[in-house]
Amino acid sequence: MVTETDREALRGLMPELLSARCGITDLRRSFRCPSPAHEDRDPSAHYYAKDNTVHCFGCGKTWDVFSLVAELDGVDGFAEQARAVADAVGYRLGDGGERGGARMPRSKRKPKPRPPFDPPREAGGANCAEACGNAFAHLYSAEGDIGRRYLRWRGLDDGDAAAFGLGFTRDPREVMPEFSVYEPRALGFITIPFWNRDFSIANYCMVRTVCRPGDARNKEWRPRGLASPLWREWLLSVGAEQVYVTEGLIDAMALAKITGGDTVALGGVANAKRLAQVLYATPPERRPARVTVAMDEDDEGRRTRDRICRDLDVLGVPHAVMPPYPGGAKDADEYLMAMRGREWEFEVREPSIQTGYDLYYTRWL
Ligand SMILES: [Zn+2]
Repeated sequence: MVTETDREALRGLMPELLSARCGITDLRRSFRCPSPAHEDRDPSAHYYAKDNTVHCFGCGKTWDVFSLVAELDGVDGFAEQARAVADAVGYRLGDGGERGGARMPRSKRKPKPRPPFDPPREAGGANCAEACGNAFAHLYSAEGDIGRRYLRWRGLDDGDAAAFGLGFTRDPREVMPEFSVYEPRALGFITIPFWNRDFSIANYCMVRTVCRPGDARNKEWRPRGLASPLWREWLLSVGAEQVYVTEGLIDAMALAKITGGDTVALGGVANAKRLAQVLYATPPERRPARVTVAMDEDDEGRRTRDRICRDLDVLGVPHAVMPPYPGGAKDADEYLMAMRGREWEFEVREPSIQTGYDLYYTRWL
């Protein structure tokens, strides 16, 4: 018979269970997911002293001691689970927690100090700011004009290219040596650097293939062998009023243009985990006051959206979900592109003093 006293006492013994069954003793740090079903290469799991649970940002699961022992040993039913937890930590059921061993259980745990914040794994490579600057200049060369036209087709004009420090290259390895891109029919690549707040450093860059329709093997390329940061990750730790999170980088730029707001991009749904890790590592007062989740309107996007919302619930970050775009657009850029008239119109401004090239601004009404 498992009494209510036992249930409460056992519930508080998560640290003991983690230590006994998983060899995890330092709960101030992230640790590998305890689930045998999750091959967790990075430490993605965290202990929450507040309610004695473990949450894994990798597989999205949360456990208390009972569901954890069920996960580890496949034990069904509460009474069996309680016995398995009691066995694992040396707790004697039924007598208020008197234990046979030398260590006495604490039926009421002292509140643990809040764990210090683990920085997520350092992401990116060497600083490629200068190469990204060169790529920006290249966008305004005769050769780079195809890149500019591509961006305008996507609804992004010269103002956006400057605001986000985009560029053009024929050879992504000029920007980062870690690129290994085989795209024989590409006309070139838009460079999308991951700038820091003041544009002084870029340790990471993605490139987007510019080609005729259907000629691309892969539309977006990452450098190989590097941990991937989020695009404009720094926005998550500057106490912003509101931050939008999108899947794609172009979508983030489109949404920034549509809303005038601050946008962060995952650069692929696989990076949803990093969003939670970065927020976890950020002191609460420097996190965004509110996060709006704006994934693609498809099944994978909706799954990712729900998963991010669960993570934000665990972290206690207020959040909202972007309502569907008008006209059935799948993402922010489709919506932006749909705002154009029958023809794109471009407003030509004074030539740039710096480059001497005419500046074009997309215009839609
Ligand atoms: Zn996991």
